[in-house]
Amino acid sequence: MKIAAYFALALALLLTFASPVLVTNAQTGAKPAPAKPTATPTTVAKKHPLDKGDFRVGFPPKVKAKQAMAADDKKVFQEIADALNGLIAMPRDIYINIDQCDEPNAFYDSRNGQITFCYELLEQYEDDFKTIEKDQKKIDGMVEDTLVQTLFHELGHCLIDVWELPATGREEDAVDQLATILMLDDTEEGTLSTINAALQFDIASKNDDPNDLAFWDEHSFSKTRFYDMICLAYGSNPDKHEWMIGPDKLPESRAVRCEEEYQRANRSWMKLLAPYLIG
Ligand SMILES: [Zn+2]
Repeated sequence: MKIAAYFALALALLLTFASPVLVTNAQTGAKPAPAKPTATPTTVAKKHPLDKGDFRVGFPPKVKAKQAMAADDKKVFQEIADALNGLIAMPRDIYINIDQCDEPNAFYDSRNGQITFCYELLEQYEDDFKTIEKDQKKIDGMVEDTLVQTLFHELGHCLIDVWELPATGREEDAVDQLATILMLDDTEEGTLSTINAALQFDIASKNDDPNDLAFWDEHSFSKTRFYDMICLAYGSNPDKHEWMIGPDKLPESRAVRCEEEYQRANRSWMKLLAPYLIG
């Protein structure tokens, strides 16, 4: 599948996030009501006094791409950039792009001001999901969901950096929380997308050598990231998601804390972002 198709869902979710309902609720930390993505991205944003930059598609002037972006990828990235520009004020320009990186990665580069996805990461996600699913259409959907999580994760790093948002504890965990609460839009689709993205961490954890665990790494262990995401998914609506608890699923001992974990994560991020949201 082409990258453009993968990012179509990211765009839909961004437009959901751009809903004025969420912006209003950001003041109270209340659960946002689900909003249907619209077909047209927000292109005309109200002027926000702090808005001095934009998300731009492509590479910063000093960065040379290893592979030129395809026209249809550019188009989808532009729609994502438009949605973000209508949603959040930025103090400077940030470039979003996809490139060959020689490793499966995605990253936010503060110095040059860019969010980059690597083609190799797409391939890795696809290979990972092939270990648990044979239906190519379902695999494509799982890759799509995981890319959305990755996009929101890198967006979190970017926002913490440019707005100097407070983040105590591990930043990697904080931006995982942002990614997850953005995906959990109180729809069944949002919940299933979150679970798919969490599953990638579960699959990745199978490659961890228990005798050679990287305790120094800035990221939590993949299996921990899996349970953290599932906990937030369950906690976003415990009555509806009771099926997530059980052996080989979310342990009861963690589940009892998840509703509060979700509410605090949601409230914290919405409070942090409220000054920069374009209403
Ligand atoms: Zn990260």
